[in-house]
Amino acid sequence: MEVQSTNEPIELKPITDKNILLSIKREDALHPIISGNKLRKLKYNLLQAKQQGCKTVLTFGGAYSNHIAATAHAGKIHGFHTVGIIRGEELVDRWKENPTLGQAAKDGMRFKFLSREDYRKKSHKAMHQELERDFGPFYLLPEGGTNELAVKGCEEILAPSDTKFDFICCPVGTGGTLAGIINSANPGQRVLGFPALKGGFLTEDICKFAQKDNWELVNDYHFGGYAKVDVGLVEFMNNFFSETQIPLDPIYTGKMMFGIIDLIKKDFFPSNTKILAIHTGGLQGIKGMNAKLKLKNISLLRI
Ligand SMILES: *Cc1c(COP(=O)(O)O)cnc(C)c1O
Repeated sequence: MEVQSTNEPIELKPITDKNILLSIKREDALHPIISGNKLRKLKYNLLQAKQQGCKTVLTFGGAYSNHIAATAHAGKIHGFHTVGIIRGEELVDRWKENPTLGQAAKDGMRFKFLSREDYRKKSHKAMHQELERDFGPFYLLPEGGTNELAVKGCEEILAPSDTKFDFICCPVGTGGTLAGIINSANPGQRVLGFPALKGGFLTEDICKFAQKDNWELVNDYHFGGYAKVDVGLVEFMNNFFSETQIPLDPIYTGKMMFGIIDLIKKDFFPSNTKILAIHTGGLQGIKGMNAKLKLKNISLLRI
């Protein structure tokens, strides 16, 4: 059965003043750890792994990765062993302090820590052969979990009733989620992707999986790059939370929502436009971000 999350209207003054309808699709509410789009991306991959008789799922990620957290927990629920190949060899004796990796270990994930240089070889055949010697045969999920089956899962995010929206907004990491949204959107709907990182390589990746051209990337709201935040973003997210009771994550959905509201203020959207923003989840990452903010003496994210 396909799971469906609910849409909630966001009634903040800058939005209602402009006669715009903004709703947020609460994919974050699907599961506290296998959050939002990561659940969508895992669904058909885990079915495939089961069909192939694979007992172990191996994947790659950074120390705060939502994908690592989701894979570990889904593995525990669905009876797979899981292995996480983690970027940063300095974490070898410090990973227990990291909330994402701590939870993943509790969920039974085994780790291998690689230097940044070795980590760059993550899609090389020789690397996979070496990992097979270490861990035995495995079902391989790429970093961020994006592949064809992941995109297929993300095509189930939009519901039939979502055709009433003029714009669909979605945060972008690898672009797999955006590709699923593009494929399932109506031709008349415009899809806006908000990259959480700098760099123009995304368009090509998205075109690999997306079959339409009713979309564009809004590159102005990455806040300096992947996992970079500033005081303005933290303040925006905390205000948004006190006014709506909807928590956002600092890496993806916080930046997207900042961008959407900024675009509304700047009259990017015509009056009476209906916008649907996808809350892709990622709330498990707030703890890790707050630990970093504390070191920099920046006020923390409230949850
Ligand atoms: C991983 C992630 C994304 C990015 O998804 P892609 O398919 O890689 O673009 C967006 N939002 C959240 C919360 C995520 O965890």
